[in-house]
Amino acid sequence: MSDTDGKKPLGLGGGRPGQVKQSFSHGRTKNVVVETKRKRVVVPKPGAAAVTTKPGSASSASGDASKRPAGISDAEMERRLRALQAAKAREVEEAAARAAEEKAREEERERRKAELEAKEREEREREEALRLKAEEDERRAREAEARAAKKEEIKPAAAKPAAPADRAAAEAAAARAATKGVPVGGPRKTDRERDDRGAPDRDRAGRGRDEGRRSGKLTLSEALSGEGGRQRSLAAMKRKQERARQKAMGMGGRAEKQVREVQLPETIVVQELANRMAERAADVVKALMKMGMMVNMNQPIDADTAELIIDEFGHKAVRVSDADVEQVIDTVEDKAEDLQPRPPIITIMGHVDHGKTSLLDAIRKTNVVSGEAGGITQHIGAYQVTTESGAVLSFLDTPGHAAFTSMRARGAHVTDIVVLVVAADDAVMPQTIEAINHAKAAKVPMIVAINKCDKPDANPQKVRTDLLQHEVVVEAMSGDVQDVEVSAKTGKGLDNLLEAIALQAEILELKANPKRAAMGAVIEAKLDVGRGPVATVLVQNGTLKQGDIFVVGEQWGKVRALLNDKGERVESAGPSVPVEVLGLNGTPEAGDVLNVVETEAQAREIADYRIQAAKDKRAAAGAAATLEQLMAKAKADEAVAELPVVVKADVQGSAEAIIQAMEKIGNEEVRVRVLHYGVGAITETDVGLAEASSALVIGFNVRANAPARNAANQKGVEIRYYSVIYDLVDDVKAAASGLLSAEVRETFIGYASIKEVFKVSGVGKVAGCLVTEGVARRSAGVRLLRDDVVIHEGTLKTLKRFKDEVKEVQSGQECGMAFENYEDIRPGDIIEIFEREEVERKLA
Ligand code: GDP
Repeated sequence: MSDTDGKKPLGLGGGRPGQVKQSFSHGRTKNVVVETKRKRVVVPKPGAAAVTTKPGSASSASGDASKRPAGISDAEMERRLRALQAAKAREVEEAAARAAEEKAREEERERRKAELEAKEREEREREEALRLKAEEDERRAREAEARAAKKEEIKPAAAKPAAPADRAAAEAAAARAATKGVPVGGPRKTDRERDDRGAPDRDRAGRGRDEGRRSGKLTLSEALSGEGGRQRSLAAMKRKQERARQKAMGMGGRAEKQVREVQLPETIVVQELANRMAERAADVVKALMKMGMMVNMNQPIDADTAELIIDEFGHKAVRVSDADVEQVIDTVEDKAEDLQPRPPIITIMGHVDHGKTSLLDAIRKTNVVSGEAGGITQHIGAYQVTTESGAVLSFLDTPGHAAFTSMRARGAHVTDIVVLVVAADDAVMPQTIEAINHAKAAKVPMIVAINKCDKPDANPQKVRTDLLQHEVVVEAMSGDVQDVEVSAKTGKGLDNLLEAIALQAEILELKANPKRAAMGAVIEAKLDVGRGPVATVLVQNGTLKQGDIFVVGEQWGKVRALLNDKGERVESAGPSVPVEVLGLNGTPEAGDVLNVVETEAQAREIADYRIQAAKDKRAAAGAAATLEQLMAKAKADEAVAELPVVVKADVQGSAEAIIQAMEKIGNEEVRVRVLHYGVGAITETDVGLAEASSALVIGFNVRANAPARNAANQKGVEIRYYSVIYDLVDDVKAAASGLLSAEVRETFIGYASIKEVFKVSGVGKVAGCLVTEGVARRSAGVRLLRDDVVIHEGTLKTLKRFKDEVKEVQSGQECGMAFENYEDIRPGDIIEIFEREEVERKLA
């Protein structure tokens, strides 16, 4: 080092390093190419001096060299000057730009390379170098002159960086010189000295240095790949141009393209995103893939990603909060002229055994008799009757307060009028008072039906006076609450009751707009065998039509069919009309509100949002319950053991009955806590919830679907199935009170799915089955499941494998099964095979 250092400052500047480096570097640059021609014309002179000496050593260059030497120095200078000035201007610009970009990178690279590869290079390059040198020498000379003339001052800054490269090159040159004889150095020196000293730094700094580096590269890369450097930069240029063009075109394209405001919820399915942008889904998927997201068009992506995509397609993203998805539900106020009278909706309330059910039946019957004789009414949770005066009344067929309050709790203000039933042979009872309070709280007008007036000990007057104490002043007592004496048994007074209701309805001036999109409330919902989820909906406003797309609670669907209270198919249902709706994707809950929306995507989005919201709420409620629990525990030293349960049943009524029964179970030590209940098959969500709270899942006449079963197995969640409510209650009671003696319990040993059904003479219907899980055993009990609902329980009459009667059929095998005393089997049904065994129970 010391050598080189020492040398450089002194003699080297133009000496060793300059020569080598420069020759390399200069040879390489673009400029070289441009100038080559000129050089060839011009070159001879500068080269001459230099080359003349060289030829001996560099044989290949000799030809060139010999030509060049002649013209060299003086004459050329002028020409050079001219040429150089033009070239220089160009070079300066280019070199400056290039230098700036590549300086840092290349310096390091070059330095290293130069040092490492100097030797190899030398040999390879020498030949080139000779050629290049000649050219460069010219150029340099030209530049030098030009520079000298212009006296540029750019050098200093660039000069330093140039040094190392120079050094490396110089060393290389020295090495070369050593190996091949000095000649090279000589001529170059002279040239360079001129250059370097005259205007060396600028040259180096600007282009020379750049070139020097390049030349380092070039020599290397040229040796390796020819004109890589140049190609690269050309390619870069092309790319740049291309980009610019694309940009320009893109701008043009975008301007023509319609820019859409894309509503963007927190997650969105790719397909839906594409729809909203009016782009092809495949293009969106492609764009996502470019971003490194491998998704298909049915997968949801988050809003951030979606926004990038929207930008990419040149649209505008409009973020909407989750709750905003509900805004598509039409909430426009109806215009007065669109409003038409609608029938009132009546709920019958009262104390147990005062005759609510009897009264509902009696009213329905009067209508059936007067209407179509012998018409079979369907129980769908509500029905309509027409009074003698022609008024239509809609009755909710779910007596009791739970239905009323649960609906109210869900915001479904369904009832217009409450009929309060009080038995004349009894009096105002606790539930009568409760009913009064409910009606008052809901600000729903009341009509008092004094029932059982046929009874000899009936005392209607006592009822009236009793009611006074509860601020119900009937008309007979100069109040404004209508009262009617009736007998559900004899039918006496029913007409009066209906007319009283009609009158009350008139006063209320109930109106609705049949022309708008329907909105209604679910009165009942069930998972029906064969028909799937079915909901009875009382239309409250608008008209519900077949084909309508709707969202109802956490479910959505498209109306496949509408059935009225007589079980007849109808095309549409207007305000206050109860209809059974088919075509749901899941079972909603009583009290859920149904809204018709425009598109399936909207329906799904709202349903998804509600599911998530409900989940969050449940989680929060769960946490709260735990807190309460903790506080309770803290208060009482003795902790109360809880048996958490999740209940799923086939109908809402069963579910509610089970919940009520559960709530009664328990003492100071133990109680049952119902985490969640609902209608329909046990799902993964239920299992998840149960797992989180170490709860027991109870299925009443429903089964877990396959994913739920798997989840339960994995997570160790216990699912118990029941068909009899007392068994269920007894079981839970026993579990809760810790009286867990050995008991008979069922275990499932297998499942089979029915592929075909045959009729075999003498045997009856035989199911051709595939055992899908476990084992089918002739002696075991069997249940027939359709859509996860139990529709039959019994034993097998026969279990055949091919023609033979067998005891067992293993999973994966086909077999024939026939039920004892049961024939309603269909392809697609599932047969559950279970055995009863004695097991030790433990407190859950
Ligand atoms: P709910 O519990 O309020 O629904 O009452 P129910 O409709 O089940 O009636 C309870 C009992 O009262 C039943 O045994 C009915 O037969 C009887 N009942 C209902 N209405 C009348 C009536 O108007 N006259 C007589 N004599 N008995 C009635």
